[in-house]
Amino acid sequence: MCISFCYLLADAHILLYHRFNDDRYPSTSISNEELREQFTFLKNNNYTVVELDKIIEKLEKKEAIPDKWVAITIDDNYKSFYDNGYKIFKEFNYPFTIFVYVEATNGKYSDFMSWGKLKEVSGFGQIEYHSYAHLSMVKADKDKLKKDFEKGLKLFEENLGYKPKYFSYPYGEMNEYSKELIKEYNFRAIFNQNNNGAVSEKSDIFNIDRLVTTKTATLKSLLKQR
Ligand SMILES: [Zn+2]
Repeated sequence: MCISFCYLLADAHILLYHRFNDDRYPSTSISNEELREQFTFLKNNNYTVVELDKIIEKLEKKEAIPDKWVAITIDDNYKSFYDNGYKIFKEFNYPFTIFVYVEATNGKYSDFMSWGKLKEVSGFGQIEYHSYAHLSMVKADKDKLKKDFEKGLKLFEENLGYKPKYFSYPYGEMNEYSKELIKEYNFRAIFNQNNNGAVSEKSDIFNIDRLVTTKTATLKSLLKQR
């Protein structure tokens, strides 16, 4: 009885952040205070922040995922994570996965983490792939998408020394056509930013929902979604 009941209730949540304590971008940045408030909420309400791998392993085996599991992801490898967010993740001992916009790092864009900084934080978190040029996967044609993947994956591997296993759609945008094309690069899992609720054994492993918010009140209601 408990087995089927618990199975029905089993679902985890994957959070997504972008910028950290960066006043220039109020809609995509979370302040240090708000981040501490969110992490304190997770801690006080018995959520377990796990490595993304643990949720993906459950999905692959089609096993029930513990209800209070949360994984945290960060898109676009902004320098504001290194300058502000990183120390708060360490304070709470919460693991994270960063999805890298390769052109920005490789081109040394001023707002983004360098390869060296990414290697430094990889001691505590996981570094994964978010495309070369941050193209919209629904607007670019096949040829453009292929070139983007070939260029970006090569640079990623040259600089970090391994092939990424996870991909997050730039802008969270995908369609069946781009999903099929991207699957050819053998990612273990792919993520959107649909704000569409929980991850369960029914989730599509190549279009996994993530929750994005910089407000604690919104986070609380998003975590209640199944
Ligand atoms: Zn992005």
